[in-house]
Amino acid sequence: MAAIDPGSLTIASALEGLAKKDFTSVELTQACIASMEAARPLNAMITETPEKALEMAKAADERRSKGGEVGLLDGVPLAIKDLFATQGVLTTAASHILDGFKPEYESTATANLWKQGAVMLGKLNLDEFAMGSSNETSYYGPVVNPWRAKDGTKLVPGGSSGGSAAAVAAGFALGATGTDTGGSIRQPASLCGITGIKPTYGRVSRWGIVAFASSLDQAGPMTRTVRDSALMLRAMAGFDPKDSTSVDRPVPDYVANLDGGVKGMRIGIPREYRMDGMDAEIVALWEQGKQWLRDAGAEIVDISLPHTHYALATYYIVAPAEASSNLARYDGVRYGLRVPGKDLNEMYENTRGAGFGREVQRRIMIGTYVLSAGYYDAYYTKAQKVRTLIKKDFEQAFQRVDAILTPTAPNAAFPIGMKNDDPVMMYLNDVFTVPTSLAGLPGMSVPAGLNSAGLPLGLQLIGKPFEEAQLLRVGQTLEKAANFTAKPTAWWRS
Ligand code: GLN
Repeated sequence: MAAIDPGSLTIASALEGLAKKDFTSVELTQACIASMEAARPLNAMITETPEKALEMAKAADERRSKGGEVGLLDGVPLAIKDLFATQGVLTTAASHILDGFKPEYESTATANLWKQGAVMLGKLNLDEFAMGSSNETSYYGPVVNPWRAKDGTKLVPGGSSGGSAAAVAAGFALGATGTDTGGSIRQPASLCGITGIKPTYGRVSRWGIVAFASSLDQAGPMTRTVRDSALMLRAMAGFDPKDSTSVDRPVPDYVANLDGGVKGMRIGIPREYRMDGMDAEIVALWEQGKQWLRDAGAEIVDISLPHTHYALATYYIVAPAEASSNLARYDGVRYGLRVPGKDLNEMYENTRGAGFGREVQRRIMIGTYVLSAGYYDAYYTKAQKVRTLIKKDFEQAFQRVDAILTPTAPNAAFPIGMKNDDPVMMYLNDVFTVPTSLAGLPGMSVPAGLNSAGLPLGLQLIGKPFEEAQLLRVGQTLEKAANFTAKPTAWWRS
């Protein structure tokens, strides 16, 4: 049998190959492990779990050879963002403060994947506590984008799910889990030329996922194709009584209607997303996207989302506020790192001072400030009100349209280190993704083309609450029209 190249497979084609016995899950998993090891220069993994992977693959092969029922993802190797608690496997959130933390429990989202037979390759690098847009805030060092600049300059993969996007783009994992609080699935998907969907808030359980901003956090799949995202989302999603914000609704078969097309659908183009000084290539791609959907039979409708301009500021009040509260639990007593001090308070200070990186400390300080007695109403309450207005903008727009098309990010991948000294520049990466998160709506990024520097760019689709099936269908149409087949050269192997 010819050697398996996992980079040439999708989840769908791997499932076909497994069903036809072209290869076993053990063979496929071995090929993924070899590619994962070869891709170490990308620093996409925090923990590799090859033995566990092979054990899970062997069990998958046994299920198949018995001819019994197999799971939706039976035998398919995936990698997991290191924000999901995995039982007995180091879970770090890319933070020093969680040193040595091996959870006693498994997150519901990953447990759902294993229930469907998926195989775990290991835990992926990310921005510390998922705070970032470039995967440079990780305690474990930056992730390198598999796509390089023409002169060889190393680029960021986006963040915070940078390891997830890199692993899928580099071809060693067939899919990865991501989480998205303000864009962390969609933006790295865009910067690495892959697909990612942030489902409606409440669709995927947050139980066992390290919390960043609980009213915004949502997990979802990152894959090479829209079909793969549909397959993986179906396995991940579902009601979970352990997450009080999880929604009790049946999970549809997202693949069933994927090829239904967009004929007769109305696609909104929000005028406020056309920002001053926007990259001309991104404007052109957005125009192209409209044309593709029009050609496929959709009607393009101009819409207005008037409070878009306030979304970023709102997000950077609400998210740090929730983070400062969520991160209070890391005190050196219950988890991970402990740096001793002469008394309890000094131990707290020493532990949190050494355990949290600069960006996390900045968020804790912003969050504590906006929640403090004197400023609560001026910042936090105000931000909550604006959040409601942003949500209402979408509700109004969705009376006229079925989905919304925008660019995913204002730029392509940029050099490592370029935006590190300027947090506001970095926060601007989220300008197109954050409104969707504040409104709790599903959003996805589909790779749509390369810019003149040869780097991938994505288009974002935003849908109505719990209409992921429809959103994926529009995504499938876009994917077909864009026919994005480019891949990074495997420079990291040499
Ligand atoms: N870049 C945004 C932030 O740093 C979003 C991160 C995310 O979605 N997890 O908050």
